[in-house]
Amino acid sequence: MAEKDIIDVANISFYYGKNKEFKIIDGVSFGTQKGEFLSIIGPSGCGKSTLLRIMAGLIKPSGGKVLFNGRHITGPNKEISFVFQDFALMPWLTNVENVKLGLSLSNMDEDKKQKRAVGLLDQFGLAGFEESYPNMLSGGMKQRVGIARAIASNPTVLLMDEPFSSLDELTANTLRDDVIYMLHNKKISVNSVIMVTHNVEEAVQLSDRIVVLSNKPSRVRRIERVDMKYPRDKHSKQFLKKVDGILADLVE
Ligand code: ADP
Ligand code: MG
Repeated sequence: MAEKDIIDVANISFYYGKNKEFKIIDGVSFGTQKGEFLSIIGPSGCGKSTLLRIMAGLIKPSGGKVLFNGRHITGPNKEISFVFQDFALMPWLTNVENVKLGLSLSNMDEDKKQKRAVGLLDQFGLAGFEESYPNMLSGGMKQRVGIARAIASNPTVLLMDEPFSSLDELTANTLRDDVIYMLHNKKISVNSVIMVTHNVEEAVQLSDRIVVLSNKPSRVRRIERVDMKYPRDKHSKQFLKKVDGILADLVE
């Protein structure tokens, strides 16, 4: 029997304007299962960030619904966390306080929150930076704080909006490996990752499936499966063929 979807995006639309005259998303549907890394790719401005925010319960869709384990998502949920492109750290808070923001929906006592946040920073190679501020960190370190904050509440689903696009390639690659490790490590609660990207190579490197969106108003053009073992050889024929196929779809 096929496994049930953790997240089910059912016929989502999003319009804005006084008379809802601007159509951004036009009936998008797909699901994602436990253990899966799913990417959403599409042209700039096609509504990827909007779609991801709808999935996080941060904005309401104009039509359709998103289900999490069969339940309708109507607002932020501590089982679903978000990683932002620009890290979205609070510059006036220390790194450990930034990680603790990820526990604001939790009823843990203050002491436990502190321990959990310090432990996560340590796990992400940031021991010693607890009491310093985000502006003292490199981009890669900032995004580690962003990911630590996101997983602090032990979420099941991690939503990431172009999380590596503002990092240099070397740093981005290390963080990509960290996310794949997190997904497959049973001790870490995350068991499904959904990433928005406009980088086709990155999508093929990381994903089990890739949802390819059309131009605005966006629809699902196709859903591509990537059946290749990790780590994937970016120079292999199979890899390059996949990248070319998706690129061709995007420029159509
Ligand atoms: P992407 O992440 O794919 O680049 P976005 O989801 O950020 O796309 O935005 C899609 C389009 O919708 C953009 O053209 C953006 O300017 C527009 N948009 C989204 N929400 C609003 C809004 N509430 N008011 C005005 N424009 C919006
Ligand atoms: Mg975006």
